[in-house]
Amino acid sequence: VKERGKNNFQLFNSEMHQEFYRKMMIEKQLRTALDNEEFELYYQPIIDLKTNEIVGMESLIRWNNETLGQVPPDEFISIAEETGMIIPIGHWVLNTALEQNIRWQKEGYQPLTVSINVSVRQLLDPTFLEKVKNAIENTALDGSYIVLEITESIAMYAEAMIEKLDALKELGISLSMDDFGTGYSSLSYLNKYPLDSLKIDKSFVIGMNRDDENKAIVKMIIAIAKELDLKVIAEGVEGQEEYHFLDEIGCDFAQGYLFSRPLPAIDFKEKWLRAGD
Ligand code: C2E
Ligand code: CA
Ligand code: CA
Ligand code: CA
Repeated sequence: VKERGKNNFQLFNSEMHQEFYRKMMIEKQLRTALDNEEFELYYQPIIDLKTNEIVGMESLIRWNNETLGQVPPDEFISIAEETGMIIPIGHWVLNTALEQNIRWQKEGYQPLTVSINVSVRQLLDPTFLEKVKNAIENTALDGSYIVLEITESIAMYAEAMIEKLDALKELGISLSMDDFGTGYSSLSYLNKYPLDSLKIDKSFVIGMNRDDENKAIVKMIIAIAKELDLKVIAEGVEGQEEYHFLDEIGCDFAQGYLFSRPLPAIDFKEKWLRAGD
């Protein structure tokens, strides 16, 4: 018994050590990743369920590092948030997404919105508003093509946040509450914040046609959104059944592997962009 206890401890210890080591490596590599141009934005189409047409895209960051290979955002974004690296990375994302969008519009493609994930750390940055203004000025992209996706964690910073979001709205930008339903905040912020839409997290959507509880949650989120005059986007739409069900219960927009995985800009352009009129 004593022997096994000791082995368990060593296993635990070495797993902890490995995890710690990987986190340290990510932290170290993140510091030079921007300068080395290791980031890329992928784009995933957002589809209008009424017309079945593309109306926008979400930009999703990808990191390819020589030492670590492809590191998924779910792994490195939280570390970038802890270290503060999310500030310069988020700035790069903002500029790159806006530049790409205006370039496509100038090439004559039908204008689409671009949704950009913004971490709460960025919103708390006192220069964030300035950065957004500059990005809009530098690209001359109309603010109405920009959607910022924020998360429920902003609810912890209530009052100051409302002013900031109002100022962003004045630039013509739309605001979407991402990962809706996964946070722990109360619903009371919903009518305090100047939101335009709610995004239903994929954890409720994937396989929901076979899950009555998730179905009920999705229905309830759509009902809340309608009541508050917000649009609803479902992410993680993988199957036809989910797609039809979402359409039936009044969801406005959908995003997921059923339509397309997130794609590099060049592939997104070829597959999804059409000439505008
Ligand atoms: P998110 O904002 O909730 O983005 C949706 C995630 O679901 C993306 O994962 C997307 O690739 C994935 N997805 C889309 N459709 C489907 C589907 O049908 N099935 C499944 N299984 N997954 C689907 P991804 O690209 O790995 O991003 C993970 C998270 O990383 C994002 O979740 C977001 O929170 C964060 N993230 C990504 N890019 C950025 C960024 O530029 N800035 C910040 N701050 N966070 C980012
Ligand atoms: Ca429809
Ligand atoms: Ca998102
Ligand atoms: Ca999500």
